[in-house]
Amino acid sequence: MNIAFIGLGNMGAPMAANLARAGHNVIGFDQADVAVEGVKMAASGTAAATDAEVVITMLPNGQILRAVANEVIPAMHNGAVLIDCSTVDVDSARTVAQQAANAGLLSVDAPVSGGIGGAAAGTLTFMAGGSEAAFAKAAPLFNIMGQKAVHCGEAGAGQAAKICNNMILGVTMIATCEAFALADKLGLDRQKMFDVVSTSSGYSWTMNAYCPAPGVGPESPSDNEYNPGFAAELMLKDLRLSQQAAESADADTPMGQIATKLYEQFVEHEGGLGRDFSAMLPRFEKRSRN
Ligand code: NAD
Repeated sequence: MNIAFIGLGNMGAPMAANLARAGHNVIGFDQADVAVEGVKMAASGTAAATDAEVVITMLPNGQILRAVANEVIPAMHNGAVLIDCSTVDVDSARTVAQQAANAGLLSVDAPVSGGIGGAAAGTLTFMAGGSEAAFAKAAPLFNIMGQKAVHCGEAGAGQAAKICNNMILGVTMIATCEAFALADKLGLDRQKMFDVVSTSSGYSWTMNAYCPAPGVGPESPSDNEYNPGFAAELMLKDLRLSQQAAESADADTPMGQIATKLYEQFVEHEGGLGRDFSAMLPRFEKRSRN
């Protein structure tokens, strides 16, 4: 299959490489000068998309996605499929889907979970929004790049699922970090704290699989001086998307709101930029109640 892949960054590059390795003819484009194994590079997004049956985008945000969609949709041929795997706001996802439909194209919003490790290993989870026909065409490619794909509903439903998942993730990480910092002050050993909570009702992915306390639980970014992993600024981006979505849908999300404020403070004023999102633990350690 002829596949155009636009946005070959930390996530896009290994995803495109996996498609090429599976035997697809992948033509890539990135505004930066990048090389990806098995992927031929085009001079522009439009050039990459012209002969493609599928165009995949993996871009930083909704504004960039809209700009790229404006360029490539007119270049795509009738019946081709546009798959956006970036994490963007629901409105951008729906706007691009409408634009694609108007041009006679199929489209799927398909953000991912699993991080750069999952992208490299081909074990991502895809959460997809779009028609049955569009999902059916995209599914074989999801199977190469990932281990699970859930068809969540119509256009925008994939982004809605991603935003809700990551709001839980941000809130839970903060809860896990503040509980460790409290346990420290109560004189509780961190390993004992992990042994209890990871097998009690406070267990969670952030405690059991991505523990923010170094030397405790399975290996995670806390064991690597909090180098990302999943950067705090990306967590902040997703939390902001959750609050934007809550505002436009009139949903009450007080915990999401507090988590957004804490990550904002952390990234913008407390040196959190470029650190893993679990570096909230040393942040809490340094603080006292007053
Ligand atoms: P990244 O910044 O490494 O990659 C984005 C790429 O897009 C860059 O190479 C950039 O040069 C390129 N780009 C920007 N504007 C462009 C344009 N107009 N035309 C062509 N290329 C352009 O980001 P990433 O970590 O690969 O993340 C991509 C998306 O995946 C984001 O939406 C992010 O939220 C989401 N995501 C990331 C992770 C993660 O762990 N990194 C996990 C899940 C989802």
